[in-house]
Amino acid sequence: MAAPGCATALAAVTRERNYERRPASMDHFRVENLSISFGGLKAVSNVSFSVDRNSIFSIIGPNGSGKTTIFNMISGIYKPDQGRVICDGENMVGLTPDRIARKGIARTFQNIELFSNATVMDNLMLGRHIHMKTGVFTGAFMWGPRSKAAREEVKNREIVERIIDFLDLQSIRDSFVANLPYGKRKLVELGRALAMEPKILLLDEPSAGMNTEEKEDLNIWIKDIQDDYKVTILLIEHDMNMIMGISDRIFAMSQGEKIIEGTPAEVQSHPEVIRAYLGEER
Ligand code: ADP
Ligand code: MG
Repeated sequence: MAAPGCATALAAVTRERNYERRPASMDHFRVENLSISFGGLKAVSNVSFSVDRNSIFSIIGPNGSGKTTIFNMISGIYKPDQGRVICDGENMVGLTPDRIARKGIARTFQNIELFSNATVMDNLMLGRHIHMKTGVFTGAFMWGPRSKAAREEVKNREIVERIIDFLDLQSIRDSFVANLPYGKRKLVELGRALAMEPKILLLDEPSAGMNTEEKEDLNIWIKDIQDDYKVTILLIEHDMNMIMGISDRIFAMSQGEKIIEGTPAEVQSHPEVIRAYLGEER
């Protein structure tokens, strides 16, 4: 898949070659010494981790431990007091959320952010807007079927149709988001993030509010996204079965700080994780 916003094809080739020579974890995505305070509260302290290309990297921790704040710093909503977010060699800190999205970092939110008075299809097409060279408004005034805007529109529709099939949204494609159950809306939000064709996908509690069946489906979809869309997935989740089954690596935190980072087996058996997190009733 083309990496959005990542310069020329030549640069991409060069990057791939470098990537082959160096350890993937150092090249692809990492955060270094991220810290942020709100008033007197240190919400995130000195957090560093690196994520392998096309892996699933999960962040766990009790409520209020700073997980969403890390996503907010990665996606440019908050500017860290200290630290760097490196994506394919480039520091994202200081860029606007829109620029960061164009660099290929897409996300879903803990509290869904969709246009509820628009249809599922409209919301998915909005995910394409970052790639529309002709702009949303020019796109609306297409001049003839051969125009650049018309060709772009066809391509965007193809990508969105594939997502509709992939996430099984066919039966609700023309439904207004406001009329959908919560679990379905979460899925639409995931679809919109996918429509951006990201190289990094940040999912903030995607299974929250889903029933058991929806959770099982989501589990499969996340694996399929990893395989079919070749994206790197950063996942915040409370569902421990899902986390332990799906993650390549897990970063466990408490009160803004790292407890341990490791494989599911390593994290699961860490006494502080058991005390700080797994002991908590969810
Ligand atoms: P988590 O996602 O792990 O539940 P958050 O990252 O949402 O936790 O929050 C971490 C801490 O930072 C909490 O104490 C929260 O109240 C605080 N926090 C997050 N965003 C803000 C903000 N914009 N203003 C003040 N405090 C905030
Ligand atoms: Mg959160």
